[in-house]
Amino acid sequence: PKLVYDFTEGNKDLRDLLGGKGANLAEMTNLGLPVPPGFTITTEACRHYLEHGALPDGLAEEIDEHLSALEEAMGKRLGQPDDPLLVSVRSGAKFSMPGMMETVLNIGLNDASVAGLAAQSGDERFAWDSYRRLIQMFGKTVLGVDGDLFEDAVDAAKKAKGTDRDLDLDAGDLRGLVATFKDIVREHAGRDFPADPREQMDLAIRAVFESWNAPRAILYRRQERIPADLGTAVNVCAMVFGNMGMDSGTGVAFTRDPATGRQGVYGDYLQNAQGEDVVAGIRNTVPLSELERLNPAAYAELLRIMETLENHYRDMCDIEFTIERGKLWMLQTRVGKRTAAAAFRIACQLLDQGLIDEDEAVARVTGDQLAQLMFPRFDQAQADGSKLLTTGMNASPGAAVGKAVFSSERAVELAARGEDVILVRRETNPDDLAGMVAARGILTSRGGKTSHAAVVARGMGKTCVCGAEELDVDTKAARFTAPGGVTVEEGEVISIDGTSGRVYLGEVPVEDSPVVKYFEGALDPAQAAAGDEGDELVQAVHRIMKHADARARLGVRANADTPEDAARARRFGARGIGLCRTEHMFLGDRRRLVEQLILAETDDERRDALDALEPLQRADFEGILEAMDGLPVTIRLIDPPLHEFLPDLTELSVKVALAGDDADPRDRKLLEAVRRLHEQNPMLGLRGVRLGLVIPGLFAMQVRAIAHAAARRRRAGGDPRPEIMIPLVGAVQELEAVRDEARRVLAEVREETGVDVPALIGTMIELPRAALTAGQIAEAAEFFSFGTNDLTQTTWGFSRDDVEAAFFSRYLELGIFGVSPFETLDREGVGRLVRIAAEEGRAARPDLKLGICGEHGGDPESVHFCHEVGLDYVSCSPFRVPVARLEAGRAAI
Ligand code: PEP
Ligand code: MG
Repeated sequence: PKLVYDFTEGNKDLRDLLGGKGANLAEMTNLGLPVPPGFTITTEACRHYLEHGALPDGLAEEIDEHLSALEEAMGKRLGQPDDPLLVSVRSGAKFSMPGMMETVLNIGLNDASVAGLAAQSGDERFAWDSYRRLIQMFGKTVLGVDGDLFEDAVDAAKKAKGTDRDLDLDAGDLRGLVATFKDIVREHAGRDFPADPREQMDLAIRAVFESWNAPRAILYRRQERIPADLGTAVNVCAMVFGNMGMDSGTGVAFTRDPATGRQGVYGDYLQNAQGEDVVAGIRNTVPLSELERLNPAAYAELLRIMETLENHYRDMCDIEFTIERGKLWMLQTRVGKRTAAAAFRIACQLLDQGLIDEDEAVARVTGDQLAQLMFPRFDQAQADGSKLLTTGMNASPGAAVGKAVFSSERAVELAARGEDVILVRRETNPDDLAGMVAARGILTSRGGKTSHAAVVARGMGKTCVCGAEELDVDTKAARFTAPGGVTVEEGEVISIDGTSGRVYLGEVPVEDSPVVKYFEGALDPAQAAAGDEGDELVQAVHRIMKHADARARLGVRANADTPEDAARARRFGARGIGLCRTEHMFLGDRRRLVEQLILAETDDERRDALDALEPLQRADFEGILEAMDGLPVTIRLIDPPLHEFLPDLTELSVKVALAGDDADPRDRKLLEAVRRLHEQNPMLGLRGVRLGLVIPGLFAMQVRAIAHAAARRRRAGGDPRPEIMIPLVGAVQELEAVRDEARRVLAEVREETGVDVPALIGTMIELPRAALTAGQIAEAAEFFSFGTNDLTQTTWGFSRDDVEAAFFSRYLELGIFGVSPFETLDREGVGRLVRIAAEEGRAARPDLKLGICGEHGGDPESVHFCHEVGLDYVSCSPFRVPVARLEAGRAAI
C-alpha cells in the first residue's frame, strides 16, 4: 500500500489514513489556500511500526521520493549548509488528542546550516533561536531528556542578562544556549545531538510513532473513548517562521466564538514567535483583532480564508496560522470544539445561512449538550476563587447552595422556614425521601452513580454529589470533616456542583438555565429578543427540538410517581408514563399501615390493613391519571422487599434490649417480623412478583385502586389509560397467576362501577430468564418494559447498590469498560438479551408494545440502541425527557 501522501494527494475524508491534521492540510492545499508544502506518512505505517518495532518495507524509499519532491519544490535541500530547507515533523491522529503526542520543529539545522539560515534570513538571532529550539524539542521528545533542564538553562541565561523576557536574549546569548543544550543532551541522553539532517528527521518520525503509546496518550484515549489501535499519522511540512522579526508571528483563531457561536473574529496572536510559544503561554498574546493594525493585508486574507473554510466545512473551524515576514501561512484547521450553547446556536445559524439542512442541524447537537444547558450552574470564576472541600462523584448535575443538614427531618424543618439546605448523609435510603425533596441538593460520602441518592436525585432533577469518600460524615454530631481537617457544622453554607462533583465551602453564586424555563413554558421562543444570548439560545433549542420530534420514531415517556412529576414530564414533552413506582406511595404516614399488613396474624387483620391503604393508593393514581389524561400510564405493582418499610434491625434490637422488660409489645412483634423478613440478598429475595404471590391480597388491592381511580376519572369526563405492570417476572407461570387475579379484580370493579376502562396487563423484563423465555412470557403479557437496572445487575452479577463505589473506578482505569454499564447500556451482553426478548416477544405476539424504563432510557447512547432494536418508547426521569426526545430524533436521522 501507499504509505506516504503528498498534501496535494489527500483530502478531508481520509482521516482514518492521514489523521485529522494531515487530511485537513491536504484539503486546504486543494482549496488553494496558502499551506506550506509537505507530505503525510499514514497511520498504517504507524500501526506497522508499533506492531513490529520496525518501519514497514518501502517506507524509507517513499519518504525519500517525497522529500526529494519537496526539496525540488522549495529549491533547496534538507539542511543544505548555505540555504537549508527546514521541516517540522508533527503527529496527527484521526481524533484530536491535543498536546498528547509529539512535534519537532526546525529539523535540518546543525552547526553548518545555522550559518546558512542566518545568511539567507539576514537575521542571526533568528537562526540561533531556531537552532536552540530544535535541540530543546528534539532532546526532550526524541531523546527523552527532562524538559526542565532546558528551561532552567534558558532561565539562567535570562538571569545572567538581567531580564525576564526571552526576546532580550541576543544572537550571542542564544549561541551560548545551543552549546549548553548540546552538553545537556550529551550528559542525559548518552549520545550527541545528531548533526545529520536526515537522521534528525528519521528519529523524529519514529518518536512521533512511539508517542502514540506514551502514558498520557493512553490515559487520554481511555477517557475520551478513542480506540487504542488507530495509530497516528506523521506530517512532514516545510517550515515557515513566525519568529523572523516583528513582521512575523503566529496565532490561533476560530471562525466563530466557541463560547456563544456569535460570528466574528476570535483568536490570539503573538508577534515574533513560533507556535509552541502560544500554546505554552510563555508570552502574552494579543487579541486577533490587533492583527488588523499590525498587518492589514495578512489580516484581510485571514478573514477571507476563514470564510472560505466555514463555507467549505459548513461548520465552525479553528485554525493555526503563521505569518512569515508579512506572508500568511495556514498550518492547521479542523472543525472546532465548542460549548453546548454554541453548538445549538451555530447549528441554527448554519441552517439560516443555508449551509446545512434541518436533519444536519439536529445531528450537529447532542443530548449531553442539551442536558448541560438544562442545569443551573455556578459562576465559574467565583467557584475557582472558593474553598474546595473535596471532589466526589458527579451523580446528578446542577449547582446547589444551602446550609448543611444531616437528617431528613432537619431538612424538612429548615426548608419549611424557607431556608435552602443541602442534605448531607453517609448514604440515603427511602426514609430520606422527604428530606431529599426539601433539599436543594444532596451530598453523600458513600455509594456510586446508581446508589439510592443518585437515582432518586436524578429522577427529581436535583443536584447530587455522591461517594465523596474523603468526607467523614457524623450524622449524630451533625457535622462532617473534610481533608485538611476543615469541619462543617449543621447550618454552615456549602455549595455542591453535580456536574463536576466538587464541593465548596460557602456560597458560590448560581445562574439559572433559560432552557429549563423554556421547557417549563415560562419562556416563549416567539418573544425572543435578538441579541439576547439566553433568548437566542432558547430559540435555537426550540427549533432543533421541533425537528427532532418530527423525525423521531421512538416515543418518549417519563418515570414519575407523583402528579407533580407527571405534569412536569408532560410539559417537558413526555407522551405518557412508562414507570410509576408504587412503593413510593408506601412511605411516610402510610408506613404504619404497611407494618400492620406485615404483622397481621389473621386474614381479617391483613384485610383491614389493605382496606386502609386502598383509598390512599386510589387517590394517588387519580392524580397521576389526571395529569397524564389521554396518555398511557404504566403503573408497576409493588416491587421492593417489604423489610425496606420496617425499622432497621440493629436500631430496633437496641431499642428493645435497652427497654428490657418495659419494651413495647408492639416493638417486640415488629422485631420478630424484621428478623423473619431479614434477607442476606434482598435484591434477589422476596420482591417483585414474588411478593404478590406470597402476600395474599396485596396486588389485588393495588389493581383495585387502579381500576377505581380510572373509573372515577372516566366519570369525571377524563380519558384515563392505565397499564398494569408486573415486576421481576422470571417465568410465565408467575405472570399468569398474577394476571388472572388482576383480570378478576378488573372485572369485579367493572361490575361494581358500571364503568369499563380497559387496562393492558404487561410485565417488566429485568431478569435474564425472562429475556430468554420472552416468547412464552409474551403469551401472557400485552407489553414488555425492559428494566435494565435490574437486568444489568443480574446479567453482570453486579450489585447495583454497591459496585460503583467498590471497584468501578478500577475497572474504568483498566479499560474493562469505558463507562459504567449502569449508565450506558452494555450492547453486547445486556443488549443482546434485550434484542432476543424483543424479537421473540414480537414473534409470539406481533402487537406487543415494547419499552424501556431503566435509567438507560435517558442515556443518549442507550436511546440509539433502543431505536435500533425497534422499541416503541423509552421512559426516563422527567428532566431527561428533552434529552431523550432529541436523541430519539437524532437516532432516526
Ligand atoms: C429496573 O430494574 O430497570 C427498573 C426500572 O426498576 P427499579 O429500578 O425500580 O428496580
Ligand atoms: Mg427493577
